[in-house]
Amino acid sequence: MLPTPYAVGPVNVYLIMGAEPTLIDAGPATREGVEALRAGLAAAGLGPGDVRRVIVTHAHPDHYGGLALLGDEGRWEVAAHPRALLWMSGDPGMLDARVAFYVRFLEQAGVPASLLRTMERESLGLRSYPRGIALHRFLGEGERVKAGDGELVVRYTPGHASSAICLERTSDRLLFSGDALLGRISSNALVEPVGAWTGDRRASLPEYVRTLHRLRSLEVDLVLPGHGDPFPDHRALVDERLAFYRARRDHVLALLGGGPATVYDLCRSLFPGLERDQLFLGLSETVGYLDLLEEQGLVGHTMSEGVLRYHRQAGRTLSPSARAG
Ligand SMILES: [Zn+2]
Repeated sequence: MLPTPYAVGPVNVYLIMGAEPTLIDAGPATREGVEALRAGLAAAGLGPGDVRRVIVTHAHPDHYGGLALLGDEGRWEVAAHPRALLWMSGDPGMLDARVAFYVRFLEQAGVPASLLRTMERESLGLRSYPRGIALHRFLGEGERVKAGDGELVVRYTPGHASSAICLERTSDRLLFSGDALLGRISSNALVEPVGAWTGDRRASLPEYVRTLHRLRSLEVDLVLPGHGDPFPDHRALVDERLAFYRARRDHVLALLGGGPATVYDLCRSLFPGLERDQLFLGLSETVGYLDLLEEQGLVGHTMSEGVLRYHRQAGRTLSPSARAG
């Protein structure tokens, strides 16, 4: 467990010992994080140079940032889903495109101009993301990757991040879940593009709901998450999360009973008193419920002056299957 400067609290890094010592994630790019990582390795009689492979569960800075500080010491292979390149690449053009992508999202969400300018000035925290980290191997669904003395099967689990993978160890029915399934907190399905940063937004929450159903079907006994303690009975937790998203989705539909609204309006109603530094997360979550409702044909949107307005589709109600979904 490594400390992070983020609201989520400490992050878990797993070391799998054996012929090919393997790390799952590397913690944040902070001195404290890297010291804790070194101490953890030392307790196992290893130094960074002994680690054969680092598998990154998803390209969020609390999970891969440590690689930026330890880069020269490690002789490891860094393995991640190809989508991780969108965050970990050192291409400065990609960074500008990323900021532009999120500014466009905020504009279309109806964030007031003055607030938007402030958020843009702060670059949404995006410019501080560690990058320029070499990826040596791309991992995709079903691939097998050696770890310690055994191997892990890659499960592609997009939603929280488009680069998210879980790692299943079938020999003892373990699942390293990254942030795709956490015991204590529901994972935010964050706004990301379909392809490159210049493209359209992907529907992250519907994608994540499909991932949850997929995770539910896995035959595992224990989940080792990216944050918090390991937990059994992942199916009960998946059901809890699905019920949570359904309830909030229905809440957003009810809010739209008051007439058309922007993502920003709905976010303010859904999360009153949200601080500015949490606003992006709130907007990301709100648009996710709208995506779910649009997929079910319950909600539509129009665009005027660069701002999206969502409305209820007349005469449509939640079908029994949508309720169960
Ligand atoms: Zn994450």
